[in-house]
Amino acid sequence: MASKIRVFIWNEFVHEREDPKVKAVYPDGIHKALAKNLGTDFDYRFGTVDEPEHGLTDAALAATDVMIWWGHMAHGRVADAAVEKVHARVLDGMGLIVLHSGHHSKLFRKLMGTSGNLRWREDNGKSRLWAIEPSHPIAAGLPQQFVVPHEEMYGERFDVAKPDDVVFISWFEGGEVFRSGMTWTRGLGKVFYFQPGHETYPTYHQKEVIQVIRNAIGWAKYQGATDVMKGAPHAQVPMEPVRSAG
Ligand code: ZN
Repeated sequence: MASKIRVFIWNEFVHEREDPKVKAVYPDGIHKALAKNLGTDFDYRFGTVDEPEHGLTDAALAATDVMIWWGHMAHGRVADAAVEKVHARVLDGMGLIVLHSGHHSKLFRKLMGTSGNLRWREDNGKSRLWAIEPSHPIAAGLPQQFVVPHEEMYGERFDVAKPDDVVFISWFEGGEVFRSGMTWTRGLGKVFYFQPGHETYPTYHQKEVIQVIRNAIGWAKYQGATDVMKGAPHAQVPMEPVRSAG
């Protein structure tokens, strides 16, 4: 039997402890709710911002196939050294799923090389997500479109690098549209950004949203490519200074 995909769910875990409204939706934190709803097909570990090294130890990262990242108010509290380590592990082949307000995390901005800025509005109506690449593995089993009854509006322009694929586009009641599910390749790592998941709404209890994240885990999982890179002949060759002609 194949071993389970090792999923590290990183959640800053601040709103759920400080805001009763959020605590009511996610009493044990977004990370625990995600694990519970994603089910027993995966092995989980967790990290939060207040743990030593935010839980992002070398050993934990080395034992992770896919990382899920949720952050919002504590982006600035994530140590640069931790961001560097996770970034390096993505380049090394670890999959990364960045959720919702993670668009402004240091990690995502570093991977994009852009600001991660977007248009935003708090009067939260419904959003409708269209699976515009239905044959993409992340859209497997999803209907052509589905509604999230209450979600924060994120609108274009979303300042990210040009994606490999736009899998989902969202429509919001105010008329805005947003590229709500996009993929990139960084080094050997696969990266997926997915918009739904404002902390005051039960978005991560919705089956279609969970299905997308479950699909993304399977799509992004580490392929064991590190050893291939170590064997690459150019890996040991030092850079030579540029010589001018003549
Ligand atoms: Zn939000």
